[in-house]
Amino acid sequence: MDASAPSTASSSHAMSARTAFDQVFRNAVTRFSPTPVDIGVSGGRIAAIAPHLACDAVEIDIGGRLVLPGFVDSHIHLDKACLLGRCGHVQGSLKEAIAAVAAMKRDFTVEDVHARGARVIERAIVHGTTRMRTHVEIDPRIGLRSFAAIKALKRHYAWAIDLSLCVFPQEGLTNDRGADELLLEALRDGADVIGGCPYTDTDPHAQIKRIFDLAQQFDLDVDFHLDFDLDPSWSHMEEVCRQTERRHYHGRVAIGHATKLSALPPDQLTKATARLAQAGVAVTVLPATDLYLMGRDTTHSAPRGLTVAHKLVEAGVLCSVATNNVLNPFTPFGDASLLRMANFYANVAHAAVSDFETCLDLVTDLPARLMNLADYGIAVGNPADLVVLDTDRGRNAIAELPDMLAGFKRGRKAFERPPAVLFKPA
Ligand SMILES: [Zn+2]
Repeated sequence: MDASAPSTASSSHAMSARTAFDQVFRNAVTRFSPTPVDIGVSGGRIAAIAPHLACDAVEIDIGGRLVLPGFVDSHIHLDKACLLGRCGHVQGSLKEAIAAVAAMKRDFTVEDVHARGARVIERAIVHGTTRMRTHVEIDPRIGLRSFAAIKALKRHYAWAIDLSLCVFPQEGLTNDRGADELLLEALRDGADVIGGCPYTDTDPHAQIKRIFDLAQQFDLDVDFHLDFDLDPSWSHMEEVCRQTERRHYHGRVAIGHATKLSALPPDQLTKATARLAQAGVAVTVLPATDLYLMGRDTTHSAPRGLTVAHKLVEAGVLCSVATNNVLNPFTPFGDASLLRMANFYANVAHAAVSDFETCLDLVTDLPARLMNLADYGIAVGNPADLVVLDTDRGRNAIAELPDMLAGFKRGRKAFERPPAVLFKPA
């Protein structure tokens, strides 16, 4: 990983390729080139990918290790992270978690949200995340304070991570006087995505309609919290699919949790999956929260309550696995590591070794597609967002949880983690 002396490999084709790279990453294995290649970077973007690139500038030897374009967290809540220290936390239900945060957020200040969010973002950066969509609660209790704090975080950490803000009403929209006006204000003030949470609204379908109206008005993608329980007798999924089709929003809508799908018998799951694929609605599975909050009332043989994203992917549904909550009443765990989350998901979802590549897709390429990121991936022209893992292939990244040795954002080093050193007795 050290910048080494310029390579002496100077075959004629390499000489002819001598161009004005700012730097070249040597001997990098990517998921699509199992034999090592060089990645030339110019102006923060990938300018060439080929063996033995010539370069007069900085060279960084990757040593045959796996390089990924960074992890993509398509669903996290920075504004309510790291709250465990300040609430008498009871192992409770989803409803109690919402109530606990609702009580605390009246006292949130911009500085407080910024500090807690920064703590999580920095953990995410050193775990290789380069793109992130954070949900931001907007309602009369918090006003626009969290929104202001997260907007500042977006600016302050742009050197390492692209942050996208999805504003949403956590505690209802049609039943929460003033929430709609605040949401509009946030949308006019630069929110990137609009979200919803119909299950906390007294009129869920009216909320879904209103969110789609606003999405169209501001030309934004939509990301709902949806179907977050294990009762398959009712669902808001069909209404979201219906509105998606009516608005020609195929490929612009995601639903988070969708744990009800895990409670469906195979024939009904096949139908629901086909419906999502047809409507172009994506699903984000949030293993830490889904496992923590689902099935709590079961005394034994508790259900996993986790929708099997890799199976849905096989059936043509765009899916991602993401972090959701970190160290709060919804999820009293979290290190913002998407590789760990993908490993956790693979373990709980009974993924086979042959599914491990898909499990890695669930925290890289697939959330990038879900977020409609046009410039993601190790390809010429894209930003040189590169993360180096101490392994040699994608499948092993899921299996081994290798250390992440370094990360680069637009070619600039964002973090470094020296390999552990063993001190064996002589
Ligand atoms: Zn969420």
